[in-house]
Amino acid sequence: MKITKIYLILLAVLCTGCSQSALPSVTAEVYAMDTVMTLTAYGDSAQAAIEAAETALLELENTISRTRVGSEIYDLNQTGSGVLSDATISLLQQALDYGALTDGAFSCTIAPVMDAWGFTTDAMAVPSDGALSDAMALDDNATVVIASDNTVTLATGQAIDLGGIGKGYASQVVADVFTANGITHGMVSLGGNVYVCGGRTDGDPWRIGVQNPSDLSTYIGILSLSDGFAVTSGGYQRYFEGNGVTYHHIIDPATGYSAQSGLVSVTIVSPDNGTLCDALSTALYVMGEEQAIAFWQSGVVDFEMILLTDDNRIVASSGISEQFVPEEGFAYESLT
Ligand code: AMP
Ligand code: MG
Repeated sequence: MKITKIYLILLAVLCTGCSQSALPSVTAEVYAMDTVMTLTAYGDSAQAAIEAAETALLELENTISRTRVGSEIYDLNQTGSGVLSDATISLLQQALDYGALTDGAFSCTIAPVMDAWGFTTDAMAVPSDGALSDAMALDDNATVVIASDNTVTLATGQAIDLGGIGKGYASQVVADVFTANGITHGMVSLGGNVYVCGGRTDGDPWRIGVQNPSDLSTYIGILSLSDGFAVTSGGYQRYFEGNGVTYHHIIDPATGYSAQSGLVSVTIVSPDNGTLCDALSTALYVMGEEQAIAFWQSGVVDFEMILLTDDNRIVASSGISEQFVPEEGFAYESLT
């Protein structure tokens, strides 16, 4: 069995032409949450902002990573109950809310299923039917109980995985740190979770490259964004091959298998909510094109999206389509 694992920056903020700024800038690379994170801030407080953001990211990893021994989520998963901090309760509650909103396409109780596939370790393999159905029985958001004193209780054997929402939340945390430090221009890419503010220092919007899953050194198109969040999910981000089949890390909770929805990548854009972008990029990938479009059209949450289908079509929602320029070779459709 061939095992392939990749960690790449999935959305890149392209920096051509942004070097002529008179403003001081600081760039840092941080390795956290299994991801190379790149942060750039401009202005007199750039150094302080970057240092504060780095500290916040490492603290967050130590709080919400389920593989980090002693984190709040690690301890909760070990014992089945625990008192969590306000911030972690809020994130867990949001994860559960996105589960309800997406009719179970997003599921933060997917942990036992991820473990059955070995995705949390380097021993990825197709589980037996019995092991998979046992794990799927534990994937149930309804048995997660959050009490008013921040005590969380899980069903026996159940575990929480915030991997589908955590980096988007982290990008939001960095955005708050930048705002608190008065950063007027900045860009951050946390493994495909992008946050930008203030546009480039030359007055143009930031240019965000949406990666091409079939050639990771190229893009399917460029998104122009001055302020906001853009998050991409795709099955190409972490996968292994077994018996000629590719199994990836986004699980369809309905089947317990990698989602085979006809989508190759999903990018979600929001002016102010990175957590939403991350949760929905995962959920809409599971849903597939038709359901994703219906979900966007329902207006139940406000967001924009760029879908890439397995037959090389790009479908963009109307609020973002004019800010996105597709590369040649893709059919491009704007929703109304
Ligand atoms: P993302 O890269 O944001 O799409 O998130 C993928 C990660 O989220 C996986 O590595 C798992 O930790 C977790 N995950 C996988 N499938 C789901 C799902 N259906 N709902 C929520 N989280 C998931
Ligand atoms: Mg996600």
